[in-house]
Amino acid sequence: MTSDTTFSSTIKTLVWFRQDLRLHDNPALIDAANNGAILPVYILDDINAEQWRMGAASRSWLHHSLTALNDKLQGNLLVLSGDASTIIPELCHDHACTSVVWNRCYEPWRIKRDTNIKASLKSHNIAVKSFNGSLLWEPTQVLKSDGTPYKVFTPYYRKGCLRQLEPRAPEPSPTALQFIKVDKKYHSCVAHQGINDLNLLSSLGWDKGFYPLWQPGEDGAEKQLLKFKQQSAFYYKDRRDFPSITGTSHLSPHLHFGEISINRIWHGIFEAAQEQGINPFDDSNLDCYLSELGWREFSYYLLYHFPYIPEQNHQPKFNAFPWQRDQQSLERWQQGLTGYPIIDAGMRELWQTGYMHNRVRMIVGSFLVKNLLIDWREGEQWFWDCLLDADLASNAASWQWVAGSGADASPYFRIFNPVTQGKKFDPEGEYVKRFVPELSRLPKKYIHSPWEASSSELKLYGITLGQSYPSPIVDLSTSRKRALEALEICQNK
Ligand SMILES: Cc1cc2nc3c(=O)[nH]c(=O)nc-3n(C[C@H](O)[C@H](O)[C@H](O)COP(=O)(O)OP(=O)(O)OC[C@H]3O[C@@H](n4cnc5c(N)ncnc54)[C@H](O)[C@@H]3O)c2cc1C
Repeated sequence: MTSDTTFSSTIKTLVWFRQDLRLHDNPALIDAANNGAILPVYILDDINAEQWRMGAASRSWLHHSLTALNDKLQGNLLVLSGDASTIIPELCHDHACTSVVWNRCYEPWRIKRDTNIKASLKSHNIAVKSFNGSLLWEPTQVLKSDGTPYKVFTPYYRKGCLRQLEPRAPEPSPTALQFIKVDKKYHSCVAHQGINDLNLLSSLGWDKGFYPLWQPGEDGAEKQLLKFKQQSAFYYKDRRDFPSITGTSHLSPHLHFGEISINRIWHGIFEAAQEQGINPFDDSNLDCYLSELGWREFSYYLLYHFPYIPEQNHQPKFNAFPWQRDQQSLERWQQGLTGYPIIDAGMRELWQTGYMHNRVRMIVGSFLVKNLLIDWREGEQWFWDCLLDADLASNAASWQWVAGSGADASPYFRIFNPVTQGKKFDPEGEYVKRFVPELSRLPKKYIHSPWEASSSELKLYGITLGQSYPSPIVDLSTSRKRALEALEICQNK
């Protein structure tokens, strides 16, 4: 890539990076680069997101992701913080940009903001183009025959999406980029900041444990995709539910920040299938993986058509649900101190690595909402702060799925039993022992239910319940009964 290519055209374009922190298959960047010189900009502007300002784990990832993007842009990324609706017009003015491009975001606050910015720029004779850089199918493209949105996943995906045109093939990174020189003298709106000035990293160093496991940025994302295709994709359906093994792609934070395009992953799976001479829809493992990408699409689709889902029950009858206010139990859940090993392992995995396995997310979610009767929005908020892949669409849709209040939700009466789930999906207790080391000496017959061991046996393994490891904070069968009774209240509404 060069920075001194000359273009016949004199178009100067501001490229506004948001959740598309990559060069490859970036439709907005490619369009701008084809037309002339670019001013690449990132603005930390989530002040308008109110309760959905980026959580601590996401901020940490963003720091590293911006650093990686800036390297790819040869140090030309302009990083600022403040209100994008004032910064962008001023940057255009200062740098004589006649055009602005971005890839679309779907969070309700962003849609509102982008619509206003588009109108304001157009009124100043600045051309604006937005592109689809993060979804396989635009939410407006997939509707039922009566013109209304789907509410159930399978018909949405199989009838709505897969019968649409095939998602477009990914495009390579631009081969040449010409950068507009940033002249600080004329840069009137805000002081030119560096990535460090955004103060995105945890001052307590909480996030240090994350990065031996993750490599933020598009090179890291590409490596992860390759590893997944080579090692796990062809076993995905069989292995994806076992948290002690690497059976899933671990692409979610890369996807959230747009370090890899969804089209790149979709077509990457097709290429892997082609190399084996098969159609991915005929292979149960690949078909299952593609449908998980479909769940991501569905989450964005729901957020677009029902923008209240991060805050309100999708099914209004859940508004009558008798949630309990129980700060102590909530904190025990957050800290991984519930006395149920698979729950505690999951919550500690989240805290230590910024990630939690999907099966375990479902188990800890069910436990919070059903056994503890704590409002799903408390869990959603905690995940929002702690997950590296925290994503408004997927987090909200998944929590509503767990709670039973969502569009196409797990029925409320399906209550995961953490002991049975643990025995089924972590049969050797390896996952539990990794994150709950105080139980590491327990034999597998007790690993998911330490209270079943006698006190002399526990002593032998160095455990005193209530001291070295908590006693269960709630009884499973009485709390199950209580949850079903609570459900009755809102079913009758
Ligand atoms: C309570 C709860 C909260 C969740 N919060 C989030 C969140 O904030 N951000 C997030 O990206 N995912 C969330 N998920 C979905 C899922 O757990 C993660 O996407 C997945 O664990 C990420 O790991 P992976 O990349 O290895 O997934 P893989 O199994 O390899 O799946 C591939 C990709 O498909 C998408 N995907 C997979 N499952 C789902 C799903 N159920 N819903 C939406 N997209 C999916 C993700 O983008 C993922 O990277 C949540 C699930 C639950 C039950």
